[in-house]
Amino acid sequence: MIIESRELPLKHNISVKKTEKYWKGLEEGKIYKTVCKNCGKEYSPPQAECTFCRCETDWVEISGVGVVEAFTTIHTIPKGFEWSEPYTIVIARFGNVRVMGWGKNVKVGDKVRAYTAKDAAGVWKVYLEVV
Ligand SMILES: [Zn+2]
Repeated sequence: MIIESRELPLKHNISVKKTEKYWKGLEEGKIYKTVCKNCGKEYSPPQAECTFCRCETDWVEISGVGVVEAFTTIHTIPKGFEWSEPYTIVIARFGNVRVMGWGKNVKVGDKVRAYTAKDAAGVWKVYLEVV
C-alpha cells in the first residue's frame, strides 16, 4: 500500500551569528571545529557554547587525514538540488570529531582529506576526497 503525500517545499532562514566563523571559513578553504575552553569537548559542526558545561568554545581548524565511517548515496534528488546528479554524503572521523561532506567513490575505512569548494548552485560546501 502506498499513500501519496503532498509536496512540501520548505525554505529556512537560519541565524548563523554564533557560528559565522565556520561559514566564512568555508570560503577561505578552512573547516573549523570548536573546543570547550573548560572541559575540552570538541564539536563538529561547531557550537558556540559547550553542551555539557555551558562554557564558551575556541575555534580550531580541522586538518590532516580523516577516516570514512559511513556514507550514503542519494539517488532520489530532493527539491532544491535539481541541478545535482545522484550524490554521496560521507561522514569521516578527524581525531575527536566527525566531519560530514560530499564525496565520490568512497568506502568505510578509506582515508580522506577535507576541502571546501562551491557547488554548482554557488553554495560553499565541505568535500571529502580519498587520499
Ligand atoms: Zn565544556
